[in-house]
Amino acid sequence: MGRYRPTSPEELPKFAGVRTFMRMPHVRTLEDVNFVVVGIPFDDATTFRSGARFGPEGIRSISAMIRPWHPVHDIDVFEHLSGVDYGDVAVVPGDVEATCEKTARDFQAIAAAGVTSFAMGGDHSVTLGELRGLCAVHGPLALVHFDAHVDTSEGNYGRKYDHGTPFRRAAEEKLVETSRSIQIGIRGGRAGPEYYQQSRDMGYEVIAMHEFEQLGVAAVLERIHKRVGDMQCFITIDIDAVDPAYAPGTGTPEVGGFTSREILNLVRGLKGLNIKGGDVLEVIPAIDTGEITAYLAANLLYEMICLQALAHRGG
Ligand code: MN
Ligand code: MN
Repeated sequence: MGRYRPTSPEELPKFAGVRTFMRMPHVRTLEDVNFVVVGIPFDDATTFRSGARFGPEGIRSISAMIRPWHPVHDIDVFEHLSGVDYGDVAVVPGDVEATCEKTARDFQAIAAAGVTSFAMGGDHSVTLGELRGLCAVHGPLALVHFDAHVDTSEGNYGRKYDHGTPFRRAAEEKLVETSRSIQIGIRGGRAGPEYYQQSRDMGYEVIAMHEFEQLGVAAVLERIHKRVGDMQCFITIDIDAVDPAYAPGTGTPEVGGFTSREILNLVRGLKGLNIKGGDVLEVIPAIDTGEITAYLAANLLYEMICLQALAHRGG
């Protein structure tokens, strides 16, 4: 049994107490800890609606509903892992590069302690800081990226760092091995076909949403496992990968995305990958409805944590 685990509703009802992720203790320690959940409340690198700086707060609040035992994997996370809510990165409002540096520093310390990180955004620019931190310890990572967008643009408005560029910068900085990386769920009309082509030109495999529709969950999972193999990897989920009908609280929505069940099954199917960390981004509580977007994001983080518990248990 792990040292740090959530408060059970038998001790204190789910609606009571100070909000932390899954009601885990908020302890800023890396000792006797297998994983941390960290917020990165930064949204100054968005190109349409802002408000994802409140994503961690919204995800923490509704995550009180999540319980430790997973019915499909038949595993209780906290029988195998000790986990804490590590709090938030000390982001610098309006300064994407300073926030990136601070994020990298925190995540490098976490990884160096042998602790796995699961982050709550924030807009997608924050992932670059996470990757810098993790790569400093682990070396380059394979990327499993769910998103409506490729996020490999050269820049927007002359900005090198924003939420549309992290995976171009990550490839340039050799934080990710693009030949082992894959992007899934890309869709929507663009200025031209080069939008879809730019990631492929950089070496990423891309499964657009219309291709996912033909392939289905099982075949796409096969493609992901084949692509990543046994390389250490990072899972990044932009909540706009999911259809706005299921995840309306986000900044740059695209119609025709995954259902909640599809994205849950895709993450469950990543079992067996060598996962060094992950994140869920772009949740905007202010335009959410009934907390459905935040609740899905919380569950996706929980699904990733379950994968780590499975790896810990072995077999
Ligand atoms: Mn997106
Ligand atoms: Mn994105």
